[in-house]
Amino acid sequence: MGVQRSRRTAAVALVGTIALAGVGLLAPAQAAEDRRPDGDPPPKQPVATGSGGAVATVDPDATAAGIEVLRRGGNAVDAAVAAAAALGVSEPFSSGIGGGGFFVYYDARSGEVSTLDGRESAPATATEQRFIDPATGTPLPFQEARVSGLSVGTPGTLATWDEALDRWGRRSLARNLGPAIELAEDGFVVDQTFRSQVEGNAAIFADFPASAELYLPGGAPPAVGTVLPNPDLADTYRQIARHGIDEFYDGPIGADIAATVQDPPVRDGATRTVRPGDLTTGDLAGYEVIERDPTVVDYRGLQVYGMAPPSSGGSTVGEALNILENFDLAAMDEAQALHHYMEATALAFADRNRYVGDPDAVDVPLDELLSQGFADERACLLDPDAAAPKPVAPGVPDGDYGGCAAAAEPAAVADEGSTTHLTTADRWGNVVAYTLTIEQTGGSGIAVPGRGFLLNNELTDFNFAPTQGSAPDPNLPGPDKRPRSSMAPTIVLDGDGDALLALGSPGGATIIGTVLQTLVNRIDLGMDLPEALAAPRLFQPNAVNTTAEPAIDGGPLGAILEGQYGHTLVPTAEIGAATAIELLGKHKLQAVAEPVRRGGGSAAVLRPRR
Ligand code: GLU
Repeated sequence: MGVQRSRRTAAVALVGTIALAGVGLLAPAQAAEDRRPDGDPPPKQPVATGSGGAVATVDPDATAAGIEVLRRGGNAVDAAVAAAAALGVSEPFSSGIGGGGFFVYYDARSGEVSTLDGRESAPATATEQRFIDPATGTPLPFQEARVSGLSVGTPGTLATWDEALDRWGRRSLARNLGPAIELAEDGFVVDQTFRSQVEGNAAIFADFPASAELYLPGGAPPAVGTVLPNPDLADTYRQIARHGIDEFYDGPIGADIAATVQDPPVRDGATRTVRPGDLTTGDLAGYEVIERDPTVVDYRGLQVYGMAPPSSGGSTVGEALNILENFDLAAMDEAQALHHYMEATALAFADRNRYVGDPDAVDVPLDELLSQGFADERACLLDPDAAAPKPVAPGVPDGDYGGCAAAAEPAAVADEGSTTHLTTADRWGNVVAYTLTIEQTGGSGIAVPGRGFLLNNELTDFNFAPTQGSAPDPNLPGPDKRPRSSMAPTIVLDGDGDALLALGSPGGATIIGTVLQTLVNRIDLGMDLPEALAAPRLFQPNAVNTTAEPAIDGGPLGAILEGQYGHTLVPTAEIGAATAIELLGKHKLQAVAEPVRRGGGSAAVLRPRR
């Protein structure tokens, strides 16, 4: 099939007056807690089991929006768009129409998995020198690059929603925006996670009056428990609902985006250097969502589908699974299994860093990276008893496999940012895994004045300077190029080709580890899905240090991984914020979100039952 590009104009339809009132779709006991009468947010639970459809997101308002749409006859795609639009209101530092993402869809009727690449693209004028300071010839400091017009790529999120609905949805974009419009109008209840994210960005937001107006009401981060509306975003969504997405890509909203990027509206007296960018209305008008063939690997009789480049999610998770296929993890103790997971991740990361970039700009040997032959060659470098010195070198995915081959100098790159993943399923058996982002928590920090959303800093996902020694770096900036991502929305089919599991996570490069470890937990280590998600995580991106959550780092497992296997663990408070859905039978679903990480997520099903 290859790739197909498109950006259609949204079907014009009037926004329905969709009332969120009465979340009767949730458990009866929960309906009384509907946010409308008392101002409380909808109830939040990490696990929900039942039938009729399911939604798992990081946020109760977004999950409620998705469930509402399912209840009104929408399918998994409609619910995903409605939930994503709501996240633009209540999770605006990790998502929103100023960003991009990757949408993976399982169609129950055809049994096919399709993917949409809605990644931000660089302006047509971008060059390899984009993040090199002309005054010094050295890469810009990360924060200076981030908080600038240079980091802003052409947003793909709105075009992704439009395209997904056009292909697979049952309802119009306008109707699916309804719950989010209402949420933006009425406001949502600020929780500790939201407040902390504002606090982390307060100095940046304060330098941009449009950002401060949205997120520093009265000049300070909003208090936990206060209701925060976003009337500008409600208007923006309404405008798009009435007139279609060309308001954004080829109209007044796009003109505002280009003007903001080219002349970032900094407050008088700000001392920060804010470099202008070069994104134009022409870049916006030319933006295309690209349908790409999914990545797929066979793992223990299951088919694991993921996102192809420019995301490295599908290829890296897939290669690591193929490596792990050489080992019987189920027969191992936990430390031994985790050691294998860590080493497989490191090997796959070496290959990701060397070979994966935007396939429209560089040659990516994707079929070879995903071949069992290549993985078997890599697997023979995995010592079951000891951690290899890091970084390990990349392999040679040339179709000629045999011994334990490695290539040239390695280079490890890890990045962390903030993203959000949501998972939906419907009564017909369709499933969506959708990860979207504006890159760092708070993106570029620059809001479009009067429009109610932040612009991404996705272009800092490019490498600023070559990282691969004498080998070419696949992820340097270039004209119209899409930066490499780690987002890994994943759908697993069983041996009959029926959807079994869908999952994903935020966390920059750690996404790949979170998805991989959750799959291993569920498929190999005998955990059920809630356990697989909640289990403590660690991440080894082909670097000297492995980051590990406190439950591992400070405990007996960490002691074995360090003492017996030779890993070097460094603590990190938490890794990722996953959501997932498992299809437990023809009419039984389980939606799962984080019980604790990022303040806990929100899972719901249309008809709860045990
Ligand atoms: N920009 C990152 C990527 O595409 C995602 C950021 C994050 O997940 O935190 O891989």
